[in-house]
Amino acid sequence: MKRTVIVNAHVISPDVDMEGATIVIEGKKIKLVAANKPAHKADRDTTVVDVRGQYVMPGFIDVHTHGALTYDFCDADENAIFEVARGKLQEGVTTFLPTTLTVSHEELVAAAKNARKYADAGMPYAKAPGIHLEGPFINVKCCGAQNPKYVRKPSVKELKEIAKVYPVKQISYAVETEGGAKFAKDCIKLGVVPSCGHTGAKLKDLMPAYRNGLRHMTHFCNQMTPLHHREIGMVGAGFLIEDLNTEVICDRIHLCDDMLRLIFTRRSLAHVQMITDSLRCSHCKDGYEFIMGGIKVKLQNGEARLEAGNLAGSTLWMGKGLKNVHDVTGIPLKDLVRCTSWNQAIEFGWGKELGKVEKGYTADLVVINPRTWKPSAVFVDGEQKI
Ligand SMILES: [Zn+2]
Repeated sequence: MKRTVIVNAHVISPDVDMEGATIVIEGKKIKLVAANKPAHKADRDTTVVDVRGQYVMPGFIDVHTHGALTYDFCDADENAIFEVARGKLQEGVTTFLPTTLTVSHEELVAAAKNARKYADAGMPYAKAPGIHLEGPFINVKCCGAQNPKYVRKPSVKELKEIAKVYPVKQISYAVETEGGAKFAKDCIKLGVVPSCGHTGAKLKDLMPAYRNGLRHMTHFCNQMTPLHHREIGMVGAGFLIEDLNTEVICDRIHLCDDMLRLIFTRRSLAHVQMITDSLRCSHCKDGYEFIMGGIKVKLQNGEARLEAGNLAGSTLWMGKGLKNVHDVTGIPLKDLVRCTSWNQAIEFGWGKELGKVEKGYTADLVVINPRTWKPSAVFVDGEQKI
């Protein structure tokens, strides 16, 4: 069996910070993680990779990302998902949920078809086991950069039609919309994670959906009701209810440093998930302009904004997000790293295979240069892809 031995690794995995480590990969799996240096020689079946003290972490899992390298998953172009997946892989993302915008039903089905084609091609870059629908069942008053023209009421029929083409793993919707509470239950029955997002809900609007199993919040704090002392809104709900899995965009633009500090020091780290919410302008230079769901967006100073000034999404890379939170909070990497993969893996049902650098886990690994915080190598299913 093909074997890869990574030596001189600084392993950062949930509750593990181990320098000078050796990782043995056999086939797709991690066979051994050792603090000592067992003797290994390169031969016909064994490749030795010396990472010279760089961090080796679980490959990142990004459950909310629209695009990269000028491509958007919703483009009417079957090549788009390949390019987005290639961009994500360069960021050290080994599993992602390509995320749709609030667009027409036909466009959503077409995007799902393109995901199916990517899967049929063997997913040559980051793996996309399912998709995330951001909308279209959101609150028209909380669209952010989503096009209000395509907002509609929750429809299980529409969800089923899309999921028939390619698995839908998550749907972000406004719980306060008509039928919103029941919709959470219907999603769970279909194996879809219901998530409250782009929402004007009050706490009392959330609770029926919560009782029906909803445990996820889309880009926590962004496009949801803020905390007020007589109505704590969705931001308050995120602090009050521990087991809500809150997505956080850690680019220091979507949330200020103090809010990042509040979230990462006051909420249980078991229920925080870092996301990028990256757009097609991710990996692009300042000045790049594009149309998103029919709305013009411009990239300036690394910020993607609509003409009206609203933030449209990010250009963030997962590794940079991790660094930002580490810098802002001082929380050790071995504690924070569960927010870049393992929490996501647990919620989406892959917790026994993904999200840890540990014996028996799938060898999805990212090697991070501690100076640049960019990946210098990426392994997917035991194969070095970068
Ligand atoms: Zn988004």
